[in-house]
Amino acid sequence: MDKKVLTVSLPDNPTISVNVIPGHYATNRFHVTHYLKLSSLKTNANLAREVARDLAIPYRSTTLVDTILCMERTEIVGAYLAQELLTEGTSLMNSGREIHVLRPRLNVNRKLIFTSNLEELILNKNVLLLVSAIATGITLDKTLEFINYYGGKVVGISALFSAQPQLDDQKIHSMFTSEDIEGYQIFDQDKCPMCKKGEKLEAIIVDNDYKKL
Ligand SMILES: [Zn+2]
Repeated sequence: MDKKVLTVSLPDNPTISVNVIPGHYATNRFHVTHYLKLSSLKTNANLAREVARDLAIPYRSTTLVDTILCMERTEIVGAYLAQELLTEGTSLMNSGREIHVLRPRLNVNRKLIFTSNLEELILNKNVLLLVSAIATGITLDKTLEFINYYGGKVVGISALFSAQPQLDDQKIHSMFTSEDIEGYQIFDQDKCPMCKKGEKLEAIIVDNDYKKL
């Protein structure tokens, strides 16, 4: 991609920044105007730790967490987040407890599943859901259904980026929001103005990774 790349930093922690590439992208149901390159925030250990520190803030003194459920390759952030929440002195609620960090598997139909040995880490547990990016909330809604199906209690939703401030009555704690990205818009694929102008799609975004067309 040779398009102009924008860099957006967190105002209160400029070491956390994200490259944003404007364009015409498709998700499984929608078209969006920007792609956020979140991968280094998830895979670079130092950055992932910074991200975890930021994401821990809303929960430190208020929320009991048993399990952090990591979607979209957020496991490294999830592990650091657990560490942040368990650290004595900074966390009043969880120090001295145990937090498990989990990633569900996808079956052949891309439906989420837990193997039987992991189900007990969800059933009747306080689950903090960690995702990479939320556009419309449809995928998130499915994930919440899945946690509910396995008997977990969602005590928080965190994201590196979210275009939605909340889902139903549950607040989404996100580092970056669509307000940080000028002109960010999501369209139904049959109502996309870029398609109507004949602009070609550049990439398909799946689980916040893109595949060039
Ligand atoms: Zn389009």
